[in-house]
Amino acid sequence: MLEARALRKAFGRTTALDGVSAEIGEGEIIAITGPSGSGKSTLLHCLAGIIRPEAGEVRLDGRRVDTLDEDDRTRLRRENFGIVFQFGQLVPELSAVENVALPLLFNRHGRRESLRTARSWLERLDTADCADHLPGELSGGQLQRVAVARALAVGPRVVFADEPTGALDSLAGEQVMDTLVGTARESRTTLVIVTHDNRVAAYADREIVLRDGTVAGASTVGTSTAGAPAAGAPAAGGEAT
Ligand code: ATP
Ligand code: MG
Repeated sequence: MLEARALRKAFGRTTALDGVSAEIGEGEIIAITGPSGSGKSTLLHCLAGIIRPEAGEVRLDGRRVDTLDEDDRTRLRRENFGIVFQFGQLVPELSAVENVALPLLFNRHGRRESLRTARSWLERLDTADCADHLPGELSGGQLQRVAVARALAVGPRVVFADEPTGALDSLAGEQVMDTLVGTARESRTTLVIVTHDNRVAAYADREIVLRDGTVAGASTVGTSTAGAPAAGAPAAGGEAT
C-alpha cells in the first residue's frame, strides 16, 4: 500500500538515507527504530511526502508520491495522511477543538460540521474537557492526545507519528499510545511510528531498524492480531533487532 524503493537523501555532506526500501501494508502498525541520526525522521518525512528524496521512489497504492509537485503533494497529504509530531505542534492561537477541525476545513468540510466532528474525536480520545482551551493551557499528555485527534479526524489512510511520546512521562505516553494504536486498529488505519523507545515499538506489528541511513534489520514485534496491546504490558523483551 505504501512503498519506498531505494530512497536516498542527503543534507549537504550528510547522507541521511542511503538506499532504503520498505513496504508497508494496509492496516499495518510499523515502528521505525534505530539510533539518533540514523535517518528515522528523514524516512518518515519522505514516506509522508513532506520532503522529496533525491533518488528512489515513494508510492501510495502504486501511485508515485515523490514526483508530485508541492501543491499535489500537499493535497495528497491532506487527503490521505495524518501526522503527529513529538511536541504536538498545535496552532497556539486556536483552541483544541479548532485545531482538530483545521484539517477538515482544509479538506473543504463546512465549519459547523468540522467543529462537530472535531469535538467527537476529542471525546473519543478522552479530552472533551480540553476542547475550548488553548494549547498553552494543556498538559503535555493532553496536547499529544489532541494532536492524535487532529491526525485521525480526517479519516486518513496512514498516520505518521515521529516520537509521539518523546516529550511525555511513561504514564502519559502509555495513554497516548493506547488511544493511537487502539483507534488505528479499530479503523484499520496504517500507522508508522518513529521511536527509540522499546515500549512504543512493542505496540507495532513489525519493526524497521535503521542504522546510518540503511535498513539494518526488520523484525516482527508486538501482537498483530489482538484488538489492543496487552494493557500495561511491560516493555516486551527490549531486543532492538
Ligand atoms: P533522532 O533520533 O535524533 O531524531 P533520526 O534518526 O530521526 O535522529 P534524522 O533526523 O533523519 O535522524 O537525521 C539523519 C541525518 O541527517 C542526521 O545526521 C541529521 O543531522 C541529518 N539531517 C536531518 N535533517 C537535516 C536538515 N534539515 N539539515 C541538515 N541535516 C539534516
Ligand atoms: Mg528524528
